[in-house]
Amino acid sequence: MEAKGLKTSLEPGFPDPDGVIEIPPASHNFFNDEQPFGALYGAPLQAQAYADTFTDDFGGTIDYNVVAKYLIREDDNKGRVSAVVAQRQDGSYVKYVANKAVVLATGDFSKNPDMMAKYCPFAWEHFKDTLSTGEVDYDAELVYSGLMPGDGQKMGLWVGAAWQKCQPNPPMINGGAAGPSHGAISNFWGINMDIHGERYMNEVTNFAYGAMAVLQLPQKTAYSVWDKAYAYTEEQWEPFGTCVDLVNGIVPATPEEEIASWDKNVDDPSSGIGTGAAYYRADTIEELLAQMEGIDVEAAKATIERYNKYAEQGLDEEFHVNPECLHPISTPPFYGAKITGATFLTVCGGLRTDEHMRVCDADDNPIEGLYNTGIMTGDFYANSYNFVMPGQNLGAVCGTLSYLLGRDLAEL
Ligand SMILES: Cc1cc2nc3c(=O)[nH]c(=O)nc-3n(C[C@H](O)[C@H](O)[C@H](O)COP(=O)(O)OP(=O)(O)OC[C@H]3O[C@@H](n4cnc5c(N)ncnc54)[C@H](O)[C@@H]3O)c2cc1C
Repeated sequence: MEAKGLKTSLEPGFPDPDGVIEIPPASHNFFNDEQPFGALYGAPLQAQAYADTFTDDFGGTIDYNVVAKYLIREDDNKGRVSAVVAQRQDGSYVKYVANKAVVLATGDFSKNPDMMAKYCPFAWEHFKDTLSTGEVDYDAELVYSGLMPGDGQKMGLWVGAAWQKCQPNPPMINGGAAGPSHGAISNFWGINMDIHGERYMNEVTNFAYGAMAVLQLPQKTAYSVWDKAYAYTEEQWEPFGTCVDLVNGIVPATPEEEIASWDKNVDDPSSGIGTGAAYYRADTIEELLAQMEGIDVEAAKATIERYNKYAEQGLDEEFHVNPECLHPISTPPFYGAKITGATFLTVCGGLRTDEHMRVCDADDNPIEGLYNTGIMTGDFYANSYNFVMPGQNLGAVCGTLSYLLGRDLAEL
């Protein structure tokens, strides 16, 4: 990456006080002077660096703007996959004959409503109004409304590949109750409440599990409340996008800077990365709750009083939040947030895949000549992508397994 002008940034980990889903800073991203926000925009820079290495350094050729349509499998769909037929922008077709292998790497199927409804029905139910299913943009990058139409998965199925074993296909969803973040990927660890003013879980978890919980709530809506003193429960705050190496990036915030960021969220709702949350501030809890549209104010007040008792006694009698994370909500001004729904990023998996990245049939027999990699790799995750190891998806199925496959194919 350095040879292609990119710098590396280490991202914060997830500090779980119970140690269950603790992860040290390990995931990293790439950035340059023009685009210092590697955590959000680094992956395309990295992909371009790979492409440049392949063409400039190794003399490879990449044909852009051709859409693969179907595979050719010899012996009436029983033999080797030997070619792929694709369509150019002018409508003409081109057949690529494979010397060694065809590797499918066409991304996910979140742009395909039928495949979403069949293979990931619960996410489809939650997100069908936000996923746009119209024209496909094969150059989509950082969008939250669906990515690819599942072409590779369909091409595999048409030549006899089986679907992955684990169903439903796991979606990648994040969000959770909004509020100060502990590490890049946290749910808000202070009090989370539903519209009835009730707590609903041990809040100390990451933003994927937090999001899953929000999706189960009435009106898919969660509220958070904290106070000014909460800023001093950490020496420094590392929000999403913090660069630990500090070269050009966003630096960790002091408690005072953290409070300023909360004020900014209230005073300028267009600031921030756009979690879709509404933020509030008031001098009393009553005034704060009165602003938080939709919550049962009296019930929430009683819940906060109970929570303060738990903080005082160091024992959460409802969900056993680690005492280190129980802080009384008593120092004005008070802050609050409301979030509805969660953020859909992608859907993982597809074709049945073995440990050599070979695409397999229903009896787990590899289809000769056919491989796949990237997010479409079947059965790498189950249920829901959980972000417990930040960067695992881009690092593992997209980066490392693709590298290992390339290395193995080169040796064929
Ligand atoms: C907003 C957002 C945030 C994300 N954040 C994270 C994160 O923090 N961590 C993480 O690990 N992952 C994250 N992801 C997921 C991650 O970006 C994807 O899993 C990853 O990019 C998938 O890489 P891929 O190469 O398999 O597929 P893609 O990046 O989707 O690439 C597929 C390629 O195939 C091409 N293609 C598709 N169909 C055809 C066809 N028929 N013929 C020819 N070419 C075709 C497309 O043009 C595209 O270039 C995020 C995704 C989104 C949308």
